[in-house]
Amino acid sequence: MVIQPQSAMTIVDNETGYVKAMVGGRKVNGRMILNRAVATRQSGSSIKPLTVYAPALQKSFELEAEGNTFPLVDSEYGFQGDNLWGEYLTAASIIDDEPTTVNGKKWPVNSPNTFNGLIPMRNALQKSLNVCAVKIMQQVGTDYCFDLAEKFGLTTLVREGDVNDNNLAALALGGQSNGVTTLEMASAYTTFVNEGVHKSYNVYTKVTTRTGDIILEADTEETEVLDPGVAWIMRDMLQSVVTDGLGGPARVSGVKAGGKTGTTSDQFDIWYCGFTSKYSAAVWVGSDINIKLSSMSNKAAALWGKIMNQMPDVTGGTYSAKPSNVISVSIDTKSGMLATDASGKDSRTEYFTKGTQPTETDTLHQTANVCTESEFLATPSCPDYTEKNGILRPYTPNKRVADIKKELPHYFCNLHNPDPEVYKVKKGLEVTIVQPGELEEPDDDGGILNADGSISYPDGSIEFPDGTIMYPDGTITESDSDPIQDDPDEIIVS
Ligand SMILES: [Zn+2]
Repeated sequence: MVIQPQSAMTIVDNETGYVKAMVGGRKVNGRMILNRAVATRQSGSSIKPLTVYAPALQKSFELEAEGNTFPLVDSEYGFQGDNLWGEYLTAASIIDDEPTTVNGKKWPVNSPNTFNGLIPMRNALQKSLNVCAVKIMQQVGTDYCFDLAEKFGLTTLVREGDVNDNNLAALALGGQSNGVTTLEMASAYTTFVNEGVHKSYNVYTKVTTRTGDIILEADTEETEVLDPGVAWIMRDMLQSVVTDGLGGPARVSGVKAGGKTGTTSDQFDIWYCGFTSKYSAAVWVGSDINIKLSSMSNKAAALWGKIMNQMPDVTGGTYSAKPSNVISVSIDTKSGMLATDASGKDSRTEYFTKGTQPTETDTLHQTANVCTESEFLATPSCPDYTEKNGILRPYTPNKRVADIKKELPHYFCNLHNPDPEVYKVKKGLEVTIVQPGELEEPDDDGGILNADGSISYPDGSIEFPDGTIMYPDGTITESDSDPIQDDPDEIIVS
């Protein structure tokens, strides 16, 4: 079967809030007047910027302004709990993208069904990670997120009743009971360009009589949704979804576009909502009755890009300058703390509203001696160990996370352990008590001890007890001397 899906789109002028274009369906003529641009459909992840990420940053901004830190909670969904988030939820806050269990169910799943491990909030948005969205909203609280969604102008969310949207599945992942419309989603996204102010949309400017008397005039209602600094950071994060994330196909020539994809469960609907400096727009593709689409949301992003690239003056307008309360800081991308030399590649610059930035340096990147036999932390009794650079979470991570290989051992060697009270061993492992020095590493270079105390090596050289070595060709080197390296202080007269 070749699926012939329907589609709808609304384009809004950022500055005025006026609807510039609206398409209510494909091949719509005659009496087929269903306008899908104003019909509700589940949003999928395209709602995350409005209901997860913007609320997290805005709530942090408000708490900082009040002199409070973020009241983190341990949901016990996974192993992270209230660790690694930082004092505030920011674009650098670390979320452990790990298997989670919510209300007794292994939920949610990511697409694809893998777990990234430690990831900053900005990157979680770029990859549209469901686990991270749920964990963030759980910290912010669904009521706060719902309130903000309404301030963004979304009117079709269901607040109360047996089947409502005031929950994680509806708000964080976009599985609403009714859904949202392309009109309201396009209008909502203008907020990110308009310094945090949402302007109500209008489909007309004015209605006059033949003689010019005004009967009806467009009335624009303005709502302050986000602090201008928060709006600027959100705009930057959404632009990075296009440059570095899943929004790549929505590039617009000549202007830095931003936006977010969305796919509903069973792939019934795909979305892309985004903006340029001039317009915000939302496109939906799906069927009037639920049929699984053969395309993923990248096709919606591509369609959005294709249309927007043809919009007159799409590069017009100007993005507002960075507000003075936005600062940039070099962060460690594993701990979300300030980067150090040990951060290496795990560091980059991130933006914060002033006061919400990290103030302490990274503690996760560490170096440890690891027993070569047990691969646990070496004790003084381990005969052989190697130095390993890695990360050490303040809790034992889930084995399924992608960065598990970087994690240093959390427990000491059970095979060579002088005292498990001091050197803690992983529960359930049998411990062999070994005192330090009991196991000297055997000589493994093949030397044979002679009666006079000298050692004969397989290559024919002999090492004498004073350290002097005689080679098969008769040359002799004294212990600890290096015949190649000259003493830099030696004066050579030739
Ligand atoms: Zn050992």
